[in-house]
Amino acid sequence: MTILDGKKVSNDIKNEIAAEVQKIKDKGEKVPHLAAIIVGNDGASLTYVGSKVKACERVGFESTLVQMSNTTSEIELLEKIKELNENPEIDGFIVQLPLPPQINEQKVLLAVNPDKDVDGFHPTNFGKMALDMSTFIPATPFGILELLDRYGVETKGKHTVVIGRSHIVGRPMSILMGRKGFPGNSTVTLTHSHTKNITQITSQADIIISALGVPNFLKAEMVKDDAVIVDVGITRVTDETRPRGYRIVGDVDFANVSKKASYITPVPGGVGPMTIAMLLKNTLLARERHTR
Ligand code: NAP
Repeated sequence: MTILDGKKVSNDIKNEIAAEVQKIKDKGEKVPHLAAIIVGNDGASLTYVGSKVKACERVGFESTLVQMSNTTSEIELLEKIKELNENPEIDGFIVQLPLPPQINEQKVLLAVNPDKDVDGFHPTNFGKMALDMSTFIPATPFGILELLDRYGVETKGKHTVVIGRSHIVGRPMSILMGRKGFPGNSTVTLTHSHTKNITQITSQADIIISALGVPNFLKAEMVKDDAVIVDVGITRVTDETRPRGYRIVGDVDFANVSKKASYITPVPGGVGPMTIAMLLKNTLLARERHTR
């Protein structure tokens, strides 16, 4: 069994990006600049955004964090997005989800300039992705592809089962794994909460990508020998023995599934760090496109 080490690979990617930034600096050009908008003070969201800002510093990007209160109106947020869309200093930006209930998420995603949409959530970019056109691929699926690629995991002709159909992970993942090319050329089954007999489906899978957010959902008896397991789940579970009072748990019963798997991602240290690395990669791409 091989661990798909997202921590190591994401570090390699960050080093590669840092080297690109150095070249940009040596030429006296503007370095990539990523901005993040966060509305409210949800603990997990603040942690994610904090990690993204820290990652920017690590590779030499400029970063801007826009913090808005929990009572921010939709109009105020849309105005801030317009400002970032029009600011030539900003190459790309993200709006951290989830948003407070008074704000319509779809309106917000539509307001982001697709050329600065480094999360790849805008319908224009999502559509381009589905049509195999050059675009920003959402960071988590992009990170999974990169991880499979760097470990040389064969996907052609394999049966990939994706669990979860969210717009940010499961749905794009199912499209990407079925695309022509590598990683891709898989036969994909997309499962969700209405799927019947899920064990029958997962136990036929060569590759399982689990993104549902239910701790230890995927058990050893649901997996065939030598399957490739990608665990996207991140759930905070109370744990008084930890200084923070919680620990992070994935969707996969790692202790038992890892005994059967050929490749498996750990949680933490698997898909999570890859997501941040690919957001940086998309920002670098956005800067290249803007300076072309
Ligand atoms: P989500 O919006 O929370 O949706 C969960 C999906 O799982 C839905 O499609 C749901 O089906 C499906 N589901 C729920 N229970 C199920 C069951 N018993 N059997 C089969 N499918 C079931 O998904 P998400 O935003 O993609 O998040 C999923 C997990 O990934 C969360 O733990 C999240 O924190 C984590 N995540 C991690 C990263 C990372 O960087 N590692 C990035 C994003 C998300 P329905 O559509 O029918 O409701």
